[in-house]
Amino acid sequence: MPAEQKKEAEEKFKEISEAYAVLSDPQKRALYDQYGHAGIDQRYAYEDIFKGVDFASVFEDLADFGFGKSIFDEIFGDLGFDIFGSKTRSTRGGRRGRDLEITLSISLEEAAFGTEKTVNIPRYELCSNCNGTGVRPGSKKTTCSKCAGRGYTVTSSGFFQIRQTCTRCRGEGEIIQNPCPECKGEARIKVTRKIKVKIPAGVDTGSQLRIRGEGEEGELGRGDLYVIIEVQSHPLFQREGNDILTQVDISFTQAILGAEIDVPTLNGKVKMRIPPGTQPGKIFRLKGKGIIDLHRKVYGDELVKVNVVIPKELTSEQRRLIEEFARTSGENLKTESFSDKIKKVFR
Ligand SMILES: [Zn+2]
Ligand SMILES: [Zn+2]
Repeated sequence: MPAEQKKEAEEKFKEISEAYAVLSDPQKRALYDQYGHAGIDQRYAYEDIFKGVDFASVFEDLADFGFGKSIFDEIFGDLGFDIFGSKTRSTRGGRRGRDLEITLSISLEEAAFGTEKTVNIPRYELCSNCNGTGVRPGSKKTTCSKCAGRGYTVTSSGFFQIRQTCTRCRGEGEIIQNPCPECKGEARIKVTRKIKVKIPAGVDTGSQLRIRGEGEEGELGRGDLYVIIEVQSHPLFQREGNDILTQVDISFTQAILGAEIDVPTLNGKVKMRIPPGTQPGKIFRLKGKGIIDLHRKVYGDELVKVNVVIPKELTSEQRRLIEEFARTSGENLKTESFSDKIKKVFR
């Protein structure tokens, strides 16, 4: 390709990639809509624009639009990039296995103290009978005659070359004439494995644990397994970061006179002192009775909110004592009736 044409192609490619990056990111798209190209340029360094963009898929998309492989080879070949891989292949084999993801539901106690769980993971592994080749042991693959082993066919269309995956060998470049009886020539087999997952103390809903090499198996190695934690709600405790919140009922006499009460914690019951004159809704803090921080290894607190329970029924003796209390406090217990209030308003 002449230098000038190459430069033009490079510019074109930059534009297309930028557009692609922008369109696939809502935030960048909004900036683009508002400020155009300059908006993107000011806010993001060139690398930032491409951050998180899966280049392989950009190239594959562009290839689907009719951009030949040769143009990218020209631009990036010098830099040592091999964009499409040495040979175009179908998704089976040929690359690292897929990452897998599962959601794991655990109790608040398990999240607080850590635990170990066994999960069942259905995944593809390389067939052991044929060592992941798909060929019956003792026989060999033969080179595809249609593409001469390249895995793709090329047709020229003006400036660009159109590359198509070979339909005969599905991009493999080779044909299996004697398939492995175990995997039917697929090279991989679906199996369900029991995987032990160590859950560290302090995880919360949305925490992601990455277990290397427990994803699917491909020719170039295994993908990873991502375990997404979901912490179940608890009948007694509510979690707020590393703190936990709970509520306890106390009687109005305990609130007035003070008391020592039992309070539930993640480690069982503890005694808590209620000082005399405690107001309804008062929140007490039990230091260090919360959940350990996943990274900093310090404990949160437990916050205890007290509900003061007012008795709904009194014995006549209790009533007399309460009235006596009110009298000594100088309170007028005669209450206005609703109709009295109305009369006052319209007087
Ligand atoms: Zn096999
Ligand atoms: Zn072929």
